[in-house]
Formats: sequence, C-alpha cells, structure tokens
Amino acid sequence: MALKIVESCVNCWACVDVCPSEAISLGSSHFKISASKCTECDGDYEEKQCASICPVEGAILLADGTPANPPGSLTGIPPERLAEAMREIQAR
Ligand code: SF4
Ligand code: SF4
Repeated sequence: MALKIVESCVNCWACVDVCPSEAISLGSSHFKISASKCTECDGDYEEKQCASICPVEGAILLADGTPANPPGSLTGIPPERLAEAMREIQAR
C-alpha cells in the first residue's frame, strides 16, 4: 500500500526530505510517490511524514484514496464557509 500525490501538489519539496524510504521524487508536473518504495512509514514513524508536513489540503491521498489532509483540516476553515465566502467575493 502506498500514498499518492495528486495534481494540487505545489512542488514545495517539503515532503521529499522527511520520507524515510526515499519514495518521493519529482514527476513530470508534480512530485510523486513510488508505490514500490512507500512503506506508509511503518516501522519508522507513527505519522505518515509526507502527509504531516504537506501544506496543501488534498494534495496527498491515503492508500484508500481519501485525502490525508482533507479540506479545512489545515486552514481551520470549514469547506462550506469557504464556499460561501468565495460566492460572496465572486458576487462583488
Ligand atoms: S507515507 Fe512515509 S514512506 Fe510513504 S511516501 Fe509518505 S513519507 Fe514516504
Ligand atoms: S509537501 Fe505537499 S505540496 Fe509540497 S511537494 Fe510534497 S506533496 Fe507537494
């Protein structure tokens, strides 16, 4: 099982150095995780290091496909409040 980095990755490099398995490298447009190298940090850390340092909500998916840092988890802004604010801004 392995985690996955998706398109919303902003290529900040933060996750690269914290991975104990050297599983993260730069792909053609964003960083990617090697499924064969990722150990999910088992045996090294309790927390998945890439997910714990990534500043972008939704950029890293857990093995089951759910976001490691779902919307609102890092900003503290509930997704529905953010959507409401965006609607207000666009209506100006
Ligand atoms: S879960 Fe751990 S081993 Fe897998 S890519 Fe992230 S930091 Fe590396
Ligand atoms: S920490 Fe997140 S945003 Fe930064 S390179 Fe890794 S996956 Fe991309």
